[in-house]
Amino acid sequence: MFLDDLKESASLEMVNLVLQMRARGEPVISLAPGDPSFNTPKEIIEVAYKSMLGGDTHYVYSYGTPDVREAIVRKVAKKNRIKASLENAIFVTAKTSVFASFAAVAARGYEALIPDPGYFYSEPVILTGGKPVRYKLSKSFNLDLDEIKKKTTPKTRAIMVNTPSNPTGTVFDKSELKELYDFCASKGIYILSDEAYEDLVYTKDHVSIGSFEKKPRYVLSIYTLSKSYSMTGWRSGYVVGPEDRVERINKLLEHTVTCYPPFIMRASAYALEKGQKFIEQFKAEYVKRRKLLNDRMDEIPALKPTEVEGSFYAFPSYSTRMSSRDLSLALLSEQKVAILPGTAFGPAGEKHIRICFAGSEENISKAMDGMKAFFSKRA
Ligand code: PLP
Repeated sequence: MFLDDLKESASLEMVNLVLQMRARGEPVISLAPGDPSFNTPKEIIEVAYKSMLGGDTHYVYSYGTPDVREAIVRKVAKKNRIKASLENAIFVTAKTSVFASFAAVAARGYEALIPDPGYFYSEPVILTGGKPVRYKLSKSFNLDLDEIKKKTTPKTRAIMVNTPSNPTGTVFDKSELKELYDFCASKGIYILSDEAYEDLVYTKDHVSIGSFEKKPRYVLSIYTLSKSYSMTGWRSGYVVGPEDRVERINKLLEHTVTCYPPFIMRASAYALEKGQKFIEQFKAEYVKRRKLLNDRMDEIPALKPTEVEGSFYAFPSYSTRMSSRDLSLALLSEQKVAILPGTAFGPAGEKHIRICFAGSEENISKAMDGMKAFFSKRA
């Protein structure tokens, strides 16, 4: 595997265009990246600051400090109903977790199933010497077990599941997750469960597929503090999985990053133990933003939204005769509004756009004014 084989991150084209336009002084409203408009709560920042002043500025154990790993084990027991011990937990940024988890289950020439549409999982599979095989989600963007069975081969080592889902906003039911778990366990296939948006659910409860196990055996559960606590810049996350796979992730960290910063871990442990109030405050705001975006999408006949059950993304289809990439570029140049084309998330994302509502209500409103004008010209 060579880095030449990798494509640029699909969302970066839009992000780079926005940066270039802003550098030219053009005012762009971006509902493209999934970065909350809120700053990290001051209480969490203060813990990191005090930790630095107190001398937490040295190398630490690559698995993570004992306090953050203990906080992770307690958190997943309470919130995710995952029965784990310290050996099952490692502190690692979610994006790196995706890569490291594929690396931890990889075998020479392996295949990994990834959702279509879905988050950016194909390049991490390629990076770990595997072949990404896309499985289509159902019409309502739920799991389609027949499709998954069809795409499974003797080389399939892992399947990626993402609920609540980016970009579709779908939250999978317990029954479909259980069916998937039973199928994978019967075949010895690892499940990588990306639960980055576990705290942002509006119409359903979030179920962790790892909760079906007596102890982690086939499921590697991936979490981040980025979205729950508005901590995207901290690079704070963790994996809970089978001990031998977590050991492999640790080996990867030892040879690459060495360890994450201890003051980040100290603040993360605090957030996991004491931060439920922040999650609730942020979620109350997202509930308002979700409603605002829904109301505004309803004013545009060309858009056909599906219900956002979780995450902070809407993924409407549209009737205009343009590819999603052309539409996104035209919207950006004509109205100075940035969103992401559905095809950034795989071929099944065609004829969809992803609109993020993690920004302020004012920005959502202004962007939707631009979108309304854009579509009404093409009606
Ligand atoms: N997984 C999903 C589904 C995401 O949407 C994101 C970020 O947007 C990540 C993982 C990566 O999270 P982090 O930025 O905390 O590494």
